[in-house]
Amino acid sequence: MKLRFLVIGGGPAGHTAASTAAGLGAEVTVIERDVLGGAAHLWDCVPSKAMIATGGELAALDRAEGMGLEATGRIDPAALRVRNLSIQTHLSDDVKQLLESQGVRILNGVGRLVSPNEAILAHDGIEERVTFDAALLSTGSRPRIPDWAAVDGDRILTTRQAYPPPVIPEHLVVIGSGVTGVEFAHMFRAFGAKVSLVVSRQHVLPSKDPEVAAVLEESFVSRGVELHKGARAEAIQRIENADFDGIEVQCADGRKVRGSHALLAIGSIPNSDGLGLAEAGITATEWGTVPVDHNCLSVAPNIYAAGDLAGKLPLSSVAAMQGRKIAEHAMGLHALAHRHLDYDKAASAIFTEPEIADVGLAEADAFAVGRKIRVTKVPFAGNAKALISGDARGFVKVISDPVTGVVLGGSIVGANAAELISVLAIAVTNGLRTQDIVESLLVHPSLAEAIVEACS
Ligand SMILES: Cc1cc2nc3c(=O)[nH]c(=O)nc-3n(C[C@H](O)[C@H](O)[C@H](O)COP(=O)(O)OP(=O)(O)OC[C@H]3O[C@@H](n4cnc5c(N)ncnc54)[C@H](O)[C@@H]3O)c2cc1C
Repeated sequence: MKLRFLVIGGGPAGHTAASTAAGLGAEVTVIERDVLGGAAHLWDCVPSKAMIATGGELAALDRAEGMGLEATGRIDPAALRVRNLSIQTHLSDDVKQLLESQGVRILNGVGRLVSPNEAILAHDGIEERVTFDAALLSTGSRPRIPDWAAVDGDRILTTRQAYPPPVIPEHLVVIGSGVTGVEFAHMFRAFGAKVSLVVSRQHVLPSKDPEVAAVLEESFVSRGVELHKGARAEAIQRIENADFDGIEVQCADGRKVRGSHALLAIGSIPNSDGLGLAEAGITATEWGTVPVDHNCLSVAPNIYAAGDLAGKLPLSSVAAMQGRKIAEHAMGLHALAHRHLDYDKAASAIFTEPEIADVGLAEADAFAVGRKIRVTKVPFAGNAKALISGDARGFVKVISDPVTGVVLGGSIVGANAAELISVLAIAVTNGLRTQDIVESLLVHPSLAEAIVEACS
């Protein structure tokens, strides 16, 4: 008899697991309340990068003069929204078609567990019972809204209300300087808004290489982004009087930052409430995540959790890989030798100006544990392709083992860093040595030649 595999939540974790399980012969059902592709397509990765791409085109027009061209541009918020929607629809339709072609049953509605082997699908006031042998909970997360922020969708926004707002803010105050905060600060600055960034620590991107964060701060300052460092926001007020029409962010040290709009980028809350965890014998952590083992299995022996709900590493790429591994595990494939998912080897990128990407071991982490490493850094300033393209900012940094030459990690700052990091990601995942990269015949002229140079 076929394994009945139920997926609740059709984001990257859910739809990848569904497709893999169907491909391996399971009878698969997916319950999704919004669109297949999930928040990743609807609210997070896709619309944010689409808007950053538009900002990039606008910046390119500004630089065009230096290339002997004359051009000007203007942001049209309505057209941007249509573009975001058309990309999302295209991607979600692709997922739907793939799953349908594999015979996956797609149910639209809200899912919740009622026992370790049963779930209820609720839609339009109707409830349907779905029985399963194995289930994946992949319901993702939503923006965190603290009780001191009265989000109104007009002047005080979450990221989900900023794709884009009806008018581009005159002065946007972004609260939070992690990856999401800096990407939105960059995006709205590129659209021409005045931007202030409220940074709770002493530098932006607290979890990243300080050298990389410093490059971004320098770029922000040169582009006129106001940085309020060491400022922990603790209240936002909407002020509307004869002298001022806007918002005011109050910080713990008494500082006040005013602007026309505020945007919250202070993390996410996992969607675990109302999921019926207790009915299946599962207890969420105090942060709302579902605890899982290295196979993404919860305490219930047939129920997995993945993606933002499992709280390992909030990346779409990681969620999708977890989904694939879970389907394989549920179908018994992991009885054979296989590679476990190694979160320390996940590549990630920040789509700012310049772009930032990293993978594997960070220099600071190696020093913290006293691990001997070889660090080599090459600037793009000497790279032919970078000079031809007129953007030679940034560098490639490679971290390797001084004895074996195995590539342990690296970071790239500069144009196309998010694409280039793939070279180092493949090296890190597969234990390649710097010599393996040096001996690869790459294209000339190309930005990737800087990676080869950093490995030499
Ligand atoms: C602004 C922003 C930008 C980001 N950009 C990137 C990026 O560039 N690259 C990257 O790798 N990551 C990015 N991320 C992170 C990434 O979006 C998430 O890590 C990823 O979406 C998590 O995937 P998931 O499968 O856990 O869930 P999601 O994509 O959140 O999907 C979960 C799905 O479950 C559905 N659902 C929830 N509850 C129920 C229920 N009870 N019944 C039925 N359906 C339900 C939801 O409707 C949703 O469709 C970004 C995040 C943010 C906030």
